[in-house]
Amino acid sequence: MSYDKNNIFAKILRGEIACKKVYENEFVLSFYDINPQKKIHVLVIPKGEYINLDDFVDKASEKEIVEFNKAITHIVKMLKISNQEGGYRLLSNTGHNAGQEVPHLHYHIFGGEKIGKMVI
Ligand code: AMP
Repeated sequence: MSYDKNNIFAKILRGEIACKKVYENEFVLSFYDINPQKKIHVLVIPKGEYINLDDFVDKASEKEIVEFNKAITHIVKMLKISNQEGGYRLLSNTGHNAGQEVPHLHYHIFGGEKIGKMVI
């Protein structure tokens, strides 16, 4: 499966579709989910063209992988939902069985309230 340059997050990265930005650096973009499932529901995506975590780990540089993870912890601190501030859940749907809708790697960050069951 090759990367689809017309997926919605690719369009957001190119500035063709607006987003409500939380954070951006050289490696990542983070924005609020358009259909929030919890009080805080934010997405984090790498700027590179990766379909999912498998693809990311196969193809991305060590720097991109490290910076992606560091950005997540930076964002949860920005949102005041770090471990010390209540905590959060990270979720990344990968492929068909997980119901991945957008074929560009993204992590959902949920927080701001009790998240509930691990798998619904
Ligand atoms: P997934 O099912 O894991 O692929 O999640 C895709 C997520 O992207 C869903 O939670 C959608 O609500 C969200 N989403 C789709 N389009 C947009 C958009 N234009 N801006 C922000 N979030 C979006």
